[in-house]
Order: sequence, then C-alpha cells, then structure tokens
Amino acid sequence: MTDQNQPSTGFDRLLHFTLPDRDARGRVVRLGPVLDRIISAHSYPAPIRQLLAEALVVTALLGSLLKDQDSQLTLQAQTQDGVVDLLVCDYRNGELRGYVRHDRARLDELGPAPSLFALFGDGYLAITFDLAATKQRYQGVVPLEGSSLAEACQSYFLQSEQVPTLIRVGIESGPEGCVAGGILLQHLPDGEEGRERLHVQLDHPEWEHVAILGGSITPKELTDPALDLEGVVWRLFHEEREIRVEPGQSIVRGCRCTIEHYQDVLARFAPEARDEMRNDEGLIVVDCAFCSREFSIDLP
Ligand SMILES: [Zn+2]
Repeated sequence: MTDQNQPSTGFDRLLHFTLPDRDARGRVVRLGPVLDRIISAHSYPAPIRQLLAEALVVTALLGSLLKDQDSQLTLQAQTQDGVVDLLVCDYRNGELRGYVRHDRARLDELGPAPSLFALFGDGYLAITFDLAATKQRYQGVVPLEGSSLAEACQSYFLQSEQVPTLIRVGIESGPEGCVAGGILLQHLPDGEEGRERLHVQLDHPEWEHVAILGGSITPKELTDPALDLEGVVWRLFHEEREIRVEPGQSIVRGCRCTIEHYQDVLARFAPEARDEMRNDEGLIVVDCAFCSREFSIDLP
C-alpha cells in the first residue's frame, strides 16, 4: 500500500547526509501516516502511543544505517516487572512495525506523562542488526537508562560500538494524527566501515562541533510541516563547508505475519494444549502482536 495525499514536505521518508570535513554522518526522518497506521492497529492509551512513536522513530533512524537489502534492525526494550514489560520494533527494507505490551491498570496509576523509568523500572534495551549479505547477527544490550529511548540508544552506540552518537526525537500529537521526527548524528573518524578504534573521543573537536550544532535542534523543528527534512539539515549545518545529502528509503508500515508462521508455531504444541486453545468452532484464533491481524487456524 502506498501513501496517497503526501504533502510535499514529505512524511514517511528518510534523508541521509554526511559532513565530510567533520567525519560525521547523519540521518533525518519524519513519520506521519505510517505512524498513525501502526498505532491505530492497537487501542493504546496516550503514554504508550507516545512511547511507541518515539521507538518507531529511533528504529527507523537505526534501520537506515543498514546497507544491504533484506537486513533487519530490531529494537527491543524489556523488563522484569515494569508497567511496560516488552516493547518491540523492527525495520527491514523501509518496512516498519512495532508494539508495546503493558499493564493497563498500573499504567493508569502513573498519570499522563510517566517517565521512562516509571514505565520500565529496571529494564534493558537490546539492539540487533541482522545483516542479510553475511548472515551475521550483531546484538548489543545496554541498561534502559536516561530520560528517553533515544538517550538509551546513544549509550548503546557509545558502549557497544564505541561510536559517539546523538539522537533527538520530536513528537506532535494533534487531532489530525501524530507526527514524529528524529535526527541521528555519528562521528566516524575512521570512515564508515567498522575499523577497530583504540579509544572513543567524545571531546574530539570535530565531534564536539557537530554535536553542539545537532543538539540545537528543537522537537518542534523535527515535526514542523513547514520545514522539510532538507530544511532541517540546512538549518543546522548551513555554515559547514560541505554537506552531502541523499534521499533514503521511503517508510511504509509492514508486517510479515503469515498464517503459515502461526500454523508452524501451533504445530509444535502438544495436541492437548492445542485442544485447550480452540474456540466453539474448533478453530484456534491468534492475532499478530504487531498489526493485530487475526488468523483462524484449523489444526488437528
Ligand atoms: Zn502482523
């Protein structure tokens, strides 16, 4: 399905850019209709919608770092006893999806704008890169700390990959839907390919400069329909000697659930366990956690 009526400012798209003189690369994304489609598949209360919107922006930014077709990025936040016990988002070939498992009654006690810690408690964030070309999987796990998922992701890049990274997210919910935007900046003094780095220099003057400029973006600018993605980059970095900009992938809502997948999963249960799951018609009804699509499965 493609998005009709896209404003020229361009929702649901990514932009890649590099600042060659500063050894920095960046990504900017803005999500509109895709975000509404993903969120409207669930009846989430406002704080969970907000959390999922932020997670989807971060997932799109991280996913856009993948180079090969069919590679996948998965962001998973999990906790033992949090109000939110699981958040999963993934990205592949521009397809984005995600869901949040939470305890509604405990959430209601937290008020309208709970902190990340209030939502998760002691949790962790796992980021997984599945690379299609080499079939390699890289996973890094960091504590879910800081005031936002974006901050926790910054820690991931610093701790697991030794790459200084800045991520900012803005979310704007209105009567016409939700718009969310984000920017990611990274310092790659040894070039884009993963060479071993002896130590991380957060105070590297080139990175300090880029991080100060990038950090001056406001949440409002990241969602402002009057400022397109090119405009965001220009506003931040117009004084740089060289900016290289190239369009990234269009983002769509995508889910890979199939009836065959659920048949395979259910076939692994004992027959007695399957009998307990059947409805009055003898069918087992399962719904996809990501997109809420329902599947009625007829298995002996
Ligand atoms: Zn699905």
